[in-house]
Amino acid sequence: MKKGYVYLVGAGPGDIRLLTVKGQQCLEIADVVLYDRLVNPLLLEKTKAGAELVYCGKLPDRHLLRQEAINDLLVKYALEGKIVVRLKGGDPSVYGRVGEEAAELEKFNIGYEIVPGITAGIGASTYAGVPVTHRDYGASFAIVTGHDKSPDGHPLIDWRGLATGIDTIAFYMGIKNLPYICEKLLENGRSKETSVLLVQWGTLGKQKTLMGTLETIAQLVKEQKFSNPAITIVGDVAQLRKTESWFERQPLFGKHVLFGRTSEGESEIASKLTSLGAEVLEYPRFMTKHLKETYVHFEDYDEIVFHSPKSVEWFFSQLKEQRVDIRSLKATLYGASTKSIKAIESFVCLGFPVNEMIEGNKRLLIASTVWKDREQQRRELYGQHDFLGSHSELVVRQSNFTCQRILDEDRVDTIVFPSAESVKVVTEQITACHETPMTLSERAEIICFGPATYEAAIRYGYKVKTTLQEPSGQALIKELVKQEQVKGS
Ligand code: SAH
Repeated sequence: MKKGYVYLVGAGPGDIRLLTVKGQQCLEIADVVLYDRLVNPLLLEKTKAGAELVYCGKLPDRHLLRQEAINDLLVKYALEGKIVVRLKGGDPSVYGRVGEEAAELEKFNIGYEIVPGITAGIGASTYAGVPVTHRDYGASFAIVTGHDKSPDGHPLIDWRGLATGIDTIAFYMGIKNLPYICEKLLENGRSKETSVLLVQWGTLGKQKTLMGTLETIAQLVKEQKFSNPAITIVGDVAQLRKTESWFERQPLFGKHVLFGRTSEGESEIASKLTSLGAEVLEYPRFMTKHLKETYVHFEDYDEIVFHSPKSVEWFFSQLKEQRVDIRSLKATLYGASTKSIKAIESFVCLGFPVNEMIEGNKRLLIASTVWKDREQQRRELYGQHDFLGSHSELVVRQSNFTCQRILDEDRVDTIVFPSAESVKVVTEQITACHETPMTLSERAEIICFGPATYEAAIRYGYKVKTTLQEPSGQALIKELVKQEQVKGS
């Protein structure tokens, strides 16, 4: 049997947009993904439908799966002929044990590649507003472990060399040993006024920072119960953090949104929220399944109406497959939305809005198969017509897995329902995460796009906080920004 292939991939420090293009390509083709605790679960949404996801979360004191077990799994899946991604937080070669995994794969003659990632020491400090080198504050930079496998966990390091020879030091896994680290640096000649910046959950919506000096930071950490995962940046560059960083100043920084979805693909509104600093899970995930072939005579119709751009695309691919020239059709083409009209026009045909349809014409509606059973609703919208289902949207169950992890980490504070259909879909799927409309309403503020959506949400048992005046992305952003400002003031 053909051997599989392994990609040892760095996921970056948290923000999913810090994954490399190559890393993303690996996730898209993977049959199996073995991922760590520090990997943002939102990245799992980039895997193909049906990919197997294996959690290797190694909590510091509680090894769920020891390294040997992970190595064994990598080998096992590869020998089964699978494409395997081993997804690690940050960069795989920085305290990621990638060397051991690679050696194991070599032993079995399994092909592999290592895909670098942005390491937390650089990612977290950048997102906290501090560059690790600066012409005026620091010319050298070191990555140092704050913990090792010796009995007391104190790392064996050339403390003198480090204290006197390196300007900026990033300590990983160093919170527990922080008093020891500060003591050693002071003992070996570093000034007690040296700035220290701690960044916890760097590059994520829950990023927190703490500023001090080598003399004060250990006490501050104790007082504020600052915990891992955090990076400790020691050096003059840390002075460059004055107020909130560019990242923390984004209007929706700290917002965690679950955005209801009813079809495949990313919504423009959700990506806009992300670009303003929110963390967004579009849920659940869908896969579009196109109807294979049809024997409908398009030539017979005076009007063809498209409910969505996907139906438009399907229609034109059908014409091509059946070798039908568009010029042989007499039908005028209508789109139910601006997007559908644009889709029609992208095929160099004119598209018209549905309110221009002519009563009495022989009409065909092409839409997703969910519309098949909604006969009355269809008639109200499009009058007398024949119906043709172009595609169906199938739920990808993997997204429940991502959603569960996000809920476990308490990373949902707002739920947005853009349509009544999204209320239904989310409510049906979320039972897999052991949640109900009641429990979700306690965790998060519910926002509905309009009155019909509001009514559906109430019917299902949600407590709705806000119904937007106007069902648009702009109105949603305005509302969320307002909420953040109220919180901040
Ligand atoms: N390979 C990873 C490091 C793994 S060691 C990388 O290159 O970043 C785990 C340590 O990394 C944690 O204890 C913490 O010190 C640091 N770390 C990982 N993610 C972090 C984050 N988002 N913010 C701050 N520190 C992080």
